[in-house]
Amino acid sequence: MMNSHELYQMLLNLTPPWKVVDVSAHLITTIREIVVRVEYPKGELLHCPECEAICPCYDHKHRRLRHLNTMQYKTTIESDIPRIECKEHGVRLIRVPWAEDKGRYTALF
Ligand SMILES: [Zn+2]
Repeated sequence: MMNSHELYQMLLNLTPPWKVVDVSAHLITTIREIVVRVEYPKGELLHCPECEAICPCYDHKHRRLRHLNTMQYKTTIESDIPRIECKEHGVRLIRVPWAEDKGRYTALF
């Protein structure tokens, strides 16, 4: 049996080392929302999104992204996404697997 973290890991097509660290349902009046917290574990290598070079961590940016709904629930991915500092490309957010291909993402809607 999968637990909910593993299930969302699969549904979101998350590739390691990204992992789901929390799944919570918010059922406030008419707003039904599933919030999936995703994390890039500390200590994992960080790559520049442009040149793939291994770069030091600069800081983290908190992001909330709307994803496909889980049944009738609004689904949001929440994450502190690492930013790297590349010698050549400067400060950049690392690539995230759930926002990589915008075309495919909207096609799923
Ligand atoms: Zn670079």
